[in-house]
Amino acid sequence: MSRVAYVDGCYSDLRRATVPIEDRGLQFADSVYEVIALVAGQLVDFDLHLARLKRSRDGLGLPAPMTDAGLRVVLGEVVRRNRLRDGLLYLQVTRGQAPRGHAFPAAPRASLMVTLRAWTPFPGSLAAGVPVVSTDDLRWRRCDLKTTGLLPNVLAKQRAHEADAFECWMVKAGVVTEGASSNAWIVRDGSVHTHPLCDDVLGGITREVLLELAAANDIEVVERAFRPADVETADEAFLTSTSSFVVPVIAFDGSEVGTGAPGPVTCRLRDLYRNHVSGPAG
Ligand code: PMP
Repeated sequence: MSRVAYVDGCYSDLRRATVPIEDRGLQFADSVYEVIALVAGQLVDFDLHLARLKRSRDGLGLPAPMTDAGLRVVLGEVVRRNRLRDGLLYLQVTRGQAPRGHAFPAAPRASLMVTLRAWTPFPGSLAAGVPVVSTDDLRWRRCDLKTTGLLPNVLAKQRAHEADAFECWMVKAGVVTEGASSNAWIVRDGSVHTHPLCDDVLGGITREVLLELAAANDIEVVERAFRPADVETADEAFLTSTSSFVVPVIAFDGSEVGTGAPGPVTCRLRDLYRNHVSGPAG
């Protein structure tokens, strides 16, 4: 079945969907995005994603392409036309088309693009845990904004790919900030550690929800940065993202983490998150 994309008012076959050559998203990465999981026909934590999209837009002075109500209609329509129950929905808001020039156009009209692809929530392949490698964090100083300026993340992910790893954790000033497309966590003596929110990390929606789930279930979380050496001596490690939920990390830069198998705290958090997404029976 062919996939349907939305670009600025038009639903079309993904293979024919195009963006104008002078779109500022293409010319300058002058754009923000969101990735939302579709599970059993529902967009997971939709309101949290919408709120982050607004924070990202506001951080760049980027106008809204339409009202939130309009956006809900478009996203619902993309889901409907693609006839998927489980998928990953990508939406990008750019500062629109304008003759090339760095400064903002006088009256920008934001562009909206939306795609949806088939995807399996909680695939068995990730349950056994994944290896992670590390690299320098080469990114700019507003990593809290979810912008499409992702070249350092692309290079980090390629490094992981070449090392047969699932993810690459980035290191800045001696501490692990986050993964190329996920937040990073370790477990030590039953307490869970992750980088505090600041300009160096993206406030992951999965991270936000997991913090609430941990608090509600008496699992201690300390929002404190950790070093690469702390990963090697941690009891457990894991990563979180919209597209992979909670994934055990069983090796870091070639060394086993903990027992080299998913740990009990990670598995508990993974189960709590699974219940959050699909209900206890899911
Ligand atoms: N950090 C980065 C750099 C990311 O790209 C992502 C994925 N969007 C995350 C963290 C995790 O965020 P979320 O849980 O909202 O997917």
